[in-house]
Amino acid sequence: MRVNRPILIEGGRVIDPSQEMDRITNVLVEDGRIAAYDALATGREDVIDAAGKIVAPGLIDMHVHLREPGREEDETILTGTAAAVAGGFTSIACIPNTEPPIDTQATVEFIQHQAARADNCNVFVVACVSKNREGKELAELGQLIHAGAVAFSDDGAPVYDAELMRRALEYCRMFDKPILNHAEVRELTQGGVMHEGLVSLILGLGGMPSVAEDVMTGRDIALAGATGGRIHLMHVSSAGSVDLIRRAKGRGVHVTTEVCPHHFTLTDDSLRTFDSDYKMSPPLRSQKHVDACIAGLVDGTIDVICTDHAPHALEKKMRELDQAPFGIVGLETALGLVITKLIEPGHLDWSTAIQKMTINPATILGIDKGTLRIGADADVTVIDSEALWTVDPKKFRSKSRNTPFKGWKLQGRADTVIVGGAVKYRVPSDSAEHDARRPVRAR
Ligand SMILES: [Zn+2]
Ligand SMILES: [Zn+2]
Repeated sequence: MRVNRPILIEGGRVIDPSQEMDRITNVLVEDGRIAAYDALATGREDVIDAAGKIVAPGLIDMHVHLREPGREEDETILTGTAAAVAGGFTSIACIPNTEPPIDTQATVEFIQHQAARADNCNVFVVACVSKNREGKELAELGQLIHAGAVAFSDDGAPVYDAELMRRALEYCRMFDKPILNHAEVRELTQGGVMHEGLVSLILGLGGMPSVAEDVMTGRDIALAGATGGRIHLMHVSSAGSVDLIRRAKGRGVHVTTEVCPHHFTLTDDSLRTFDSDYKMSPPLRSQKHVDACIAGLVDGTIDVICTDHAPHALEKKMRELDQAPFGIVGLETALGLVITKLIEPGHLDWSTAIQKMTINPATILGIDKGTLRIGADADVTVIDSEALWTVDPKKFRSKSRNTPFKGWKLQGRADTVIVGGAVKYRVPSDSAEHDARRPVRAR
């Protein structure tokens, strides 16, 4: 086993919601673990100067499409995990709508093997709910859990059959694993390209009404309530869904949810450009829905911020809007969008934002991550909260470039990313426009 030198992360503002910590201190990393706080340099450590920066538990993205196996023209496990660390993520959960889908032990093991070879970040496997993602027969969930699957999802598509969902929830309850569902009633969205509303009417484009999401969110909550199983609603985007989840949580239903940066930053108005980088599912909705997502983040209804990183090769996204595939990349812009659009305007404080990107997803997935407790795996993200930078897709480590945020000026990005005690990413020295730097505000 390769042994890394100890690392001393010096003088940063350490924000770890898992232990309600927010103070300026030194963090010592040794033997791949968090070894001590308030440690002083002895000369045997590699020192990382974190003065003026934020030191957080390594960020976790629980919703990433890595595309391998089967669609390596869009992304590979190597490029996807490289994009993850560049975005500040030390752990990701990959979604099983690959070709073939991740529905056997052998495929789970293939992902784990490729992730270990890539050696960028931790990759946790979400496996299929149904065999071959066909929505007919349950996959061998027990065997998949044995192989290391942390959750189940047929994302890309919903688990459509309510009886299948009920049995999946019952089965997973025994193992305390969540089902992650893409809530969409297809009869209501057929032929849809964008959110159904005034803008779709003006543009003459097929609509996907928000009620298509709400109806299945309601079904999933009812099934979770009836079975006692854990449902996690993916990429929530509608005011109705946020409201249903808020009420269900109030009744003690085991429901959690996540939101993606595009759903709290953009509206359906963007589709006026006819740019397919604004096409995703669920679609960008009206301001009312964006406001509801932000309100859900603020009051804790929404537990997690994730990306739904969905790379597509350029030639696919170049097609006409109605032919282009749904989805955008997100790993390398998420942190900047959270800081610029949630923290800077005062919607979320740092601790709450970090919580939704660390300990909350770790708790939902049941993984031993998302914390800087002494003895924990040394997964650490040092964040330069004041760096100003411009999103340039040409610089992405992802194989794909399909982002609606090209050219955006963002504040804040990952500076140094440590996974298992080894530095896996350092921001290139020429990449930030630091002229507008301000000192970090203490809380
Ligand atoms: Zn989805
Ligand atoms: Zn997805």
